[in-house]
Amino acid sequence: MGDHCVFCKIIRGEIPSNKVHEDDQVLAFTDIHPAAPTHVLIIPKTHIETIEDIPSGDHLVSLLTERAIQVAKQLNLREGYRLVINNGDNGGQTVYHLHLHLLGGRFMTWPPG
Ligand code: AMP
Repeated sequence: MGDHCVFCKIIRGEIPSNKVHEDDQVLAFTDIHPAAPTHVLIIPKTHIETIEDIPSGDHLVSLLTERAIQVAKQLNLREGYRLVINNGDNGGQTVYHLHLHLLGGRFMTWPPG
């Protein structure tokens, strides 16, 4: 666990969050600065900094994606949604604990800014 990692602190309950899903491997909670009417972060409970740190053959991204789909159904995002992983500084990653953004509730423009 990352002692100073904000998402590890959320997992440990040291920082409050609005949880929308939790199981033994994954936590999902609403983003504090929502970029869409629905903006949920899906994170592994283990501290992994980026997608590049996932061991080869590990199914973590599949697991996060499955949970995101489950949360999208739970939140009734029937008209679609966007799943995003920002990787590294130029990718827009600001929190170095792997997370999947689930964005919905409005039309998503493309390309992103
Ligand atoms: P990224 O830029 O892809 O690393 O995304 C990090 C996200 O974490 C941003 O959208 C932030 O708004 C969000 N965030 C940071 N701190 C918190 C927090 N304490 N609770 C909920 N979301 C947070």
